Amino acid sequence: MSGSHQRNTRPMRESPRCGAKTRRGTPCQAPAVHGKTRCRMHGGARGSGAPRGNQNALKHGLYTAESKAFDAFVRDTLKRGKEALE
Ligand SMILES: [Zn+2]
Repeated sequence: MSGSHQRNTRPMRESPRCGAKTRRGTPCQAPAVHGKTRCRMHGGARGSGAPRGNQNALKHGLYTAESKAFDAFVRDTLKRGKEALE
């Protein structure tokens, strides 16, 4: 065994962690599943979570992606109009 060998563990150490509260009360140290915020034990597993476009919690649709995009369009148009007047 030599002590000079350098291992590249940086991507592993810097990957986002799960952080869910464990039964010990400490944050979970396991790496989060790619594209998710939790590890595979805490809700990051394949097939878990709500499907895309889930309507279960929809109350009025004021904050849907579609509505937000429209609001941004209106804001931008008003801004352009203001600028054109100046
Ligand atoms: Zn976890």
